[in-house]
Amino acid sequence: MPPVNVQAIVLRRRALGEADKVLTLFTREMGKLSAIAKGARKPTSKLAGATETCVRARFHLAQGKTFWIVTQASVERARAKLHRLLVNATAAIYACELVDCLLEENVPDEELFDLLSDTLDELEISEHPMWTLCLLENAIMLQQGYTPVLETCARCAKTVDGEQIAFQPGSGGVLCASCARAENHVVMLPRLAWLTWRVLNAGGHVDFPEEPAAGELERAVHLHLRYHLDREMRSTQVLWQLRHELSGGEVC
Ligand SMILES: [Zn+2]
Repeated sequence: MPPVNVQAIVLRRRALGEADKVLTLFTREMGKLSAIAKGARKPTSKLAGATETCVRARFHLAQGKTFWIVTQASVERARAKLHRLLVNATAAIYACELVDCLLEENVPDEELFDLLSDTLDELEISEHPMWTLCLLENAIMLQQGYTPVLETCARCAKTVDGEQIAFQPGSGGVLCASCARAENHVVMLPRLAWLTWRVLNAGGHVDFPEEPAAGELERAVHLHLRYHLDREMRSTQVLWQLRHELSGGEVC
């Protein structure tokens, strides 16, 4: 295959040998692929900046025996601001990890590419990084077809209402009071969180809802997506610990 010139977000990088990096790239044109950046761990390397996690860059790649080989790279978005904010940076790493787990090798997905790119841009400035992440998780949830039932009870289809609404990922959505009583593991959503979620899933725009609604909705969306993906990301624990500390221990 001839060399290619692609736009990509670095989802992951790991050290190889003395000074090389193996990159997991999400390219706009070719989907996910692995590439070696030779010498990129040397501070003087021209590839050093473009081969960090969360960076968006343009890469020239040549086909090697097993991996692609990075021959040139120019940074489009370094996202330097991310590194000043620990929780934003952790949220960005989580976002990359999540998208990495969803992608098959060599299958382009421009919609997901733009979604991740926009989320990483937003995380550089977001005052509510977990909310920004929640919007990404919810959009992914809808894109993958894991839409929860929020209007009526997911078990018996009765009308649901109240100040606190029971939600259970395993049941596929919210539960009426009598169905919720029969279950052990339900998440209680404040009414505002429930209404906000419905607006979001109907394609509406919502601003950051007040606490504790925001935190409870973030948690419900995360648990719902985790239930469907059947795995947890490595960065989840540290992310929720930070969220817990920043919110003064209100949520988690
Ligand atoms: Zn019910």
